Amino acid sequence: MNSVFVICEIEEGKVADVSLELLTKGRQLANQLKTKLEAVVIGKDLKDIENQIFPYGTDVVYKAEDKRLEHYLTLPYTSIITDLFKETKPEIALLGATSQGRDLGPRVSSKLKSGLTADCTSLEIGPHEDKKAGKTYEQLLYQIRPAFGGNIIATIINPEHRPQMATVREGVMKKEIVDTAYKGEVKNIDVSKSLKDEDFVISIVERHMEKRKVNLTGSQVIIAGGYGMGSPENFNLLYDLAEVLGGEVAASRAAVDAGFADHARQVGQTGVTVRPKIYIACGISGQIQHRAGMENSSMIIAVNTDENAPINQIADYVINGDVAEIIPRMIKAYKKN
Ligand code: FAD
Repeated sequence: MNSVFVICEIEEGKVADVSLELLTKGRQLANQLKTKLEAVVIGKDLKDIENQIFPYGTDVVYKAEDKRLEHYLTLPYTSIITDLFKETKPEIALLGATSQGRDLGPRVSSKLKSGLTADCTSLEIGPHEDKKAGKTYEQLLYQIRPAFGGNIIATIINPEHRPQMATVREGVMKKEIVDTAYKGEVKNIDVSKSLKDEDFVISIVERHMEKRKVNLTGSQVIIAGGYGMGSPENFNLLYDLAEVLGGEVAASRAAVDAGFADHARQVGQTGVTVRPKIYIACGISGQIQHRAGMENSSMIIAVNTDENAPINQIADYVINGDVAEIIPRMIKAYKKN
């Protein structure tokens, strides 16, 4: 079987976290399929970048280096990846569901006529029997994602076309080094074969980087507030608790819609996916669209007046009570310690 491929993204000289998460998942899939894990990086100065990628168990790192490729550009990146995949014929190809991955993935898949599942939240290997066509597939990629407004979790398969392509949301997979001393092979791509002048009809004149104001994915403690917080004033209590615990404040969509918090803080299907060590859900009912973004947290604590709130089903600890009473008590108690 051919390889599992990860298209890596570079952010200021570093491989993006989402790519490292995909390499970790890619290694597991490659083990199941008994095949290689390969990665591709594109950029201007990729010296030693492979050393960030090999520890995740990567067997081959393809490097496409050119001074014109310093920043992401749709057409040249598409040309390079499409040519690489025509040559290497991967079984599976994964990208982050970032703005770059969401732009590049569909273009590559349409050039290769392979299809693509966007915004996956889980990937597995499994069999499939097509009774109509009388065909059985032993090991297909199950591309799992919420569908129909999050009301169902759909498993999508692509039996016939290759690669089986998917973009995966940031933060849903765990990144885990396999072996810090793992060494694979580096292959330099001759980009002159793929790049054409017309690939550079668009050039970047100036770039402004805005730092993420809210770092939810990098936070180990998250205090999240929902509509049950009742008012922006009550919502401010969460910032006090976050300060005491050294955490970050997140919100449900209903809280964002009510104007309690900025959209950058929204966790869930249409927000950010997080997996902190502690997630304290305050006045959040725990609808499936919210849970999609936080249910992989190591410990979940729910504060809710409703004993039967759905969030309680996935919570490790439930505090049954009013947020306006419980949160000030929590702040006081943790301040003492
Ligand atoms: P509610 O459902 O209104 O729950 C409020 C909770 O607070 C209740 O459990 C109540 O018992 C409790 N409560 C009330 N007063 C108090 C009090 N004083 N003290 C303690 N507890 C109290 N939602 C997201 O969060 N993120 C998403 O990304 C997202 N994407 C969506 C995408 C689609 C396509 C759709 C259709 C919906 C999406 N939603 C999302 C919305 C989601 O379905 C829910 O409507 C939303 O999560 C509810 O937010 P909530 O739990 O804060 O509010």
